[in-house]
Amino acid sequence: MAAFADPKVCAVTVSDATDSTFGTLYVVATPIGNLDDMSVRALRVLKDVALIAAEDTRHSQRLLQHFGIQTPLAACHDHNEREEGGRFLARLRGGDDVALVSDAGTPLISDPGYHLVRQAREAGIRVVPVPGACALIAALSAAGLPSDRFIFEGFLPAKAAGRQARLQALNEEPRTLIFYEAPHRILDSLRDMAAAFGPERPALLAREITKTFETLKGLPLSELCGFVEQDSNQQRGECVVLVAGFTAPEGGEAVSAEGLRVLDLLLEEMPLKRAAALAASITGERKNALYQAGLARKEPAGG
Ligand code: SAM
Repeated sequence: MAAFADPKVCAVTVSDATDSTFGTLYVVATPIGNLDDMSVRALRVLKDVALIAAEDTRHSQRLLQHFGIQTPLAACHDHNEREEGGRFLARLRGGDDVALVSDAGTPLISDPGYHLVRQAREAGIRVVPVPGACALIAALSAAGLPSDRFIFEGFLPAKAAGRQARLQALNEEPRTLIFYEAPHRILDSLRDMAAAFGPERPALLAREITKTFETLKGLPLSELCGFVEQDSNQQRGECVVLVAGFTAPEGGEAVSAEGLRVLDLLLEEMPLKRAAALAASITGERKNALYQAGLARKEPAGG
């Protein structure tokens, strides 16, 4: 995202800044599980370029072998991308075409490639996307959550305090939220999401997309926690979590997830009127809004 805030990068466009003697950098998406998702164009580009810049050469070698492609590979990963970018740029300046691939899906999407693409564009090299699989888009396309506006948050911080702070900052975000998560943190993250966004917020876990054990499970956050807790298989493989954006309760004033959390805790100990008053003085939210939210919570859940 920072790249678009940089006027130097914005100013470079394919049509006005490329040098026709240079090669082209192709940014090539590869499958996220099912090899049949490899596009015909991606195969042609990977066959035709002089060099493939790969996140992990051994991993990509297996993909190339599967499709009978013999193009040489060179490493382009997080640790060497800035320094080694020059090597790929030299080849591109010399007229060779280069393809950039990551281990799975679309390069640069929670994957290396940003520095190379940026350097190439700044050097006047033509950069061409070869689109294909991307886990967040695949998950969103089948989730049944609003897809007209969404925000991709990538991976949450690994440590609980950082993760909870990030989620708190997002609790009134109206767009559908999309997260990548590692399987060993999925349960903790879902629990933190339920605490930050409220237990009833609709969500979906998309696991092992395009693979044998593909699972797309849509439930309110608290129930999704239960589903994952009860079945350890759900804590394996690769996953994307989607959460519906914040919507103000109909006919009522919006109460933040923190306000609801405090209200819920107090409701376990005291009647609604007193809980709403106390929650209002703790959180600074309006007493009446909390009271209305408390009434709504007592009603049986619809739909
Ligand atoms: N560049 C990739 C893309 O286009 O989606 C993402 C790479 S990122 C390092 C890997 C993360 O993407 C995983 O931890 C998981 O959150 C998500 N992911 C990748 N493949 C997936 C799949 N088949 N099913 C579900 N999530 C997947």
